[in-house]
Amino acid sequence: MNLDQMNTLLEEAGDYLGVDHSFAGLLRIPEQQIAISIPYRRDDGSMHTVPGYRTIHSTLLGPGKGGIRLHPDTDSEEVQLLAWWMTMKTALLHLPFGGAKGGIAADPEDLSSREKENVIRSYIDKLHPFIGRDTDIPAPDVNIGQQEIGWMMDQYEKHHADPYHATFTGKEEIIGGAPGRVEATAAGVVQTIECWLEANNKAVHKQKIAIQGAGNVGGICARILSEKGALITGISDSSQALHDSSGLDVEKILTHKEETGRLQKTGGKEPDTIFDADCDIFIPAAMENQLTEKTAGRLQASLVVEGANGPTSEDGDKKLQERDIDVLPDILSNAGGVVVSYYEWRMNERKETWEKSRVQKELKSAMIDAFERVHDIKQEVNVPYRTAAYYASCRRLADVMEAKGLLA
Ligand code: GLU
Repeated sequence: MNLDQMNTLLEEAGDYLGVDHSFAGLLRIPEQQIAISIPYRRDDGSMHTVPGYRTIHSTLLGPGKGGIRLHPDTDSEEVQLLAWWMTMKTALLHLPFGGAKGGIAADPEDLSSREKENVIRSYIDKLHPFIGRDTDIPAPDVNIGQQEIGWMMDQYEKHHADPYHATFTGKEEIIGGAPGRVEATAAGVVQTIECWLEANNKAVHKQKIAIQGAGNVGGICARILSEKGALITGISDSSQALHDSSGLDVEKILTHKEETGRLQKTGGKEPDTIFDADCDIFIPAAMENQLTEKTAGRLQASLVVEGANGPTSEDGDKKLQERDIDVLPDILSNAGGVVVSYYEWRMNERKETWEKSRVQKELKSAMIDAFERVHDIKQEVNVPYRTAAYYASCRRLADVMEAKGLLA
């Protein structure tokens, strides 16, 4: 996807909804884009800078919401696209948030823990005037987890009073995080799989599932799905892929990964072989544009469930359609993270604490509702799930524009 394609999509959605061009016009340009230099000190005492970004795509439905990623390849255009997707995601899930995203263009492999902390605190020193619990609420994304959010929150609170810590989500529970936030994205992915299976009169038990990525999304998906009786027939990280048609020992592999950083000491295949895995369901849970025309042509699955944001390229999507493989799109299937971020923010704003069982119950019903909204449009207009999901998001956005008197 690129920004032009997104604009075309908005025009098409506007036609489907029967609204005028103001609809697409209002979502075409991000509301706010910030590009900064982030100075930081290395352990040898030298000073360096890396670029950083934060974009608010839209605040039509509420304050900006979205993660911050730490990745050497992130840039202004990627952050803009991801912020656009967040607008679609929060609208689809009926959350009172707009869409935003941030990025720090540095390689975490290249930084010591202290250097990483320096980069992150310096990023917040520059960004703090533009974020806040009622304006723009950041969260984890690629290579940013609870520890990094803790540093961000602490740095932010040196500049602003925020006693109930509502400006960042994805925090540790002891500083106001929601129970179950870490596994929320994976739990949402699994829930959408179960919805699709039910709609197709199938059960999760004995489904063969291959997963690209073994981090917060892929690894936890593997764990939950194997507990539900599915067979994880393939899993990969950036250095290797493991395969077993009769089901891998997920617990052993993930424990090894947690302890050593590798899925298995020796014997893994090339990471790219994950696309050839023997499976019914394929979950790309790594980075963008992994399913291209070529790799999508190799899949054995009849369902792709996007755990990552934007893992399927335009060509890849076409190939999957040609091959009659259903795709549950990112804005639906990986929305569990931002849904639980919303519970966390609400807990903080209202000074409440929720039990994990309440978080899980509400997340489950939010995902089922969103799946049904998308499934209904798919049935009504006979389009792929991805198009149906965008139409559902755009319907929400158009309804809000209508209520505010913004459409002709
Ligand atoms: N980074 C996650 C996403 O892409 C979570 C965002 C959030 O919790 O605000 O949906």
